[in-house]
Amino acid sequence: LCDEAADECDNINVVIRCRPLNDKERQRGDENNLIFPGEGQAWVNMDGMNGQLTQKPKVFTYNVVFEPEALQEDILEHSGVKRLLDMAIDGFSCTIFCYGQTGSGKTHTLTGPPHLFDKGPDMFSESHGLIFRSFVYLFNQLQNRDDQEFTLTASYLEIYNEKVIDLLNIGTNTKPLQVRWSKKKRGFFVENLFEIECAELDDLLAVLEEGLRNRAVASHNMNEYSSRSHTILTVNITSEQKADDGVNLTRNGKINFVDLAGSEMTKKTNSEGKTLEEANNINKSLMVLGTCIAALSDNRKRDGHIPYRDSKLTKLLADSLAGNGVTLMIACVSPAKSNISETINTLRYATRAKRI
Ligand code: ADP
Ligand code: MG
Repeated sequence: LCDEAADECDNINVVIRCRPLNDKERQRGDENNLIFPGEGQAWVNMDGMNGQLTQKPKVFTYNVVFEPEALQEDILEHSGVKRLLDMAIDGFSCTIFCYGQTGSGKTHTLTGPPHLFDKGPDMFSESHGLIFRSFVYLFNQLQNRDDQEFTLTASYLEIYNEKVIDLLNIGTNTKPLQVRWSKKKRGFFVENLFEIECAELDDLLAVLEEGLRNRAVASHNMNEYSSRSHTILTVNITSEQKADDGVNLTRNGKINFVDLAGSEMTKKTNSEGKTLEEANNINKSLMVLGTCIAALSDNRKRDGHIPYRDSKLTKLLADSLAGNGVTLMIACVSPAKSNISETINTLRYATRAKRI
């Protein structure tokens, strides 16, 4: 994964996005606790922590760090997303996922504010998220390739408490779907998942809109539902290219956009009953994902056993994490002093994903 801002080429790339301090935090006197000295660094101000007045800041280094002023457009332009989308068109399996505590900006980064889609997706505003922008870019690229024929399909699912729900097929008696493995499908897949053929940009946007609307329905009356579930929006791209000898060349690429459950859930396992089971499952998916990615980014472990099978999330992302797939992790953090420990956890998770 290459970009002018990222000087390395890797299967797994990691960028950080820090959101601005919000009004509530300002009003209660919360402070900016992150420092961005440039060169891909994020410093966490540790003054006053552990009862010590002044301490050295913790220093974290990545390919790209997006400061609070970064625009939605910057994420598309400077995190290597365009190259990843080009690779999906060329037949690779690609994944973009947002990781971070609840309220750190994962949904904002991927989708943008929900009201954008109430008015219909025609208006292109600064706030539109990475998914919308990627769709626009994708269709522009496809139009430039007149030697190929493309078929696009899209699906949108949610994993809540290790159960897979189809966000394009929500009914009163909807049953969770099964994740299966098939040689023919070249890996894990979700049985009976709706796949909508998308001939135009508007079709893809309709899938996004429909999924978002159904997600709101599915979460009805459930506290913190959205912070406990993972969503995966997938665009499958099949291309047919006529070769000189008349034999058609077929490629199957895809791109997954993954909005993960809040990472704070990885610790809250001391609650009881159903919540405990949920916390454990969320905990598990995020931990397994972290373990898989850390192993894959370690050249000595890459060819060893990678525990994809340990969670539904990693099963479904396996083909883009492994082999010749490409993954971009956007680690979202809050700048607020009150969030410092979650921020450090996220920065560590991101560092672990990048360690060679
Ligand atoms: P998450 O999905 O990680 O729980 P959200 O994306 O819902 O977090 O963000 C929480 C709040 O912060 C939302 O009101 C969102 O609009 C706002 N927000 C997040 N990131 C940004 C940003 N980069 N710029 C402006 N507002 C943001
Ligand atoms: Mg969210």
